[in-house]
Amino acid sequence: MNISEIFYSIQGEGVEIGLPTVFVRLFACDLRCSWCDTMYAVEGRDFKKMTVGEIRAGIAGFGCRRVCITGGEPLIQKDEAGELTEYLIKDGYRVVLETSGHKLPPPVFWTENCIISMDCKCPGSGMQERMDFGLFQKLRPQDQLKFVIADEADYEYAKQILSKYTIKANIIFQPAGGQGLGWLPERVIGDNLERVRVLPQLHKLIWGDKRGV
Ligand code: SF4
Repeated sequence: MNISEIFYSIQGEGVEIGLPTVFVRLFACDLRCSWCDTMYAVEGRDFKKMTVGEIRAGIAGFGCRRVCITGGEPLIQKDEAGELTEYLIKDGYRVVLETSGHKLPPPVFWTENCIISMDCKCPGSGMQERMDFGLFQKLRPQDQLKFVIADEADYEYAKQILSKYTIKANIIFQPAGGQGLGWLPERVIGDNLERVRVLPQLHKLIWGDKRGV
């Protein structure tokens, strides 16, 4: 597998925010979000080739039973990501898959000990045309659908998606850049979007725009 980095930190996003987690960042992505903060895992050749066995050993070395498979877009290496996750689940790990809403995750990610964390790309990303809204409706109550909100237009777009589709998953609104929540909580309260969690990227509040945390 092409691996950008493996590191141990706290989960900075979504419903597992704050929990110690091992991150496995897979290299490559077929989207180009305007605000992407992991371009080192999207373009260039900054990755290492590792076997599933080597990755499992790397994860085991941290002694934490929670793993986040992220990217880039992990489902570019769908079969390998699925194989790794099958081993992890058998070994008793809990897995979060971070993916964009344009690829169907393989069956192993729909099992009890996996959370699918799917992004709905808003207009500010420049990638909204790539989204498959049918995927959002497949998400389960344990999963999450995350909207990165860059401006008012993104906020209105997210609201429109939520009113148009039946979504059972947790809903996260996250400000682009991960910090400076500013007006977003006030708008959510003002519009009484009672299902929405407004969350920062905790790792950015703690460590700033640093790699490997
Ligand atoms: S999907 Fe993620 S990794 Fe790919 S360009 Fe967008 S933010 Fe970056």
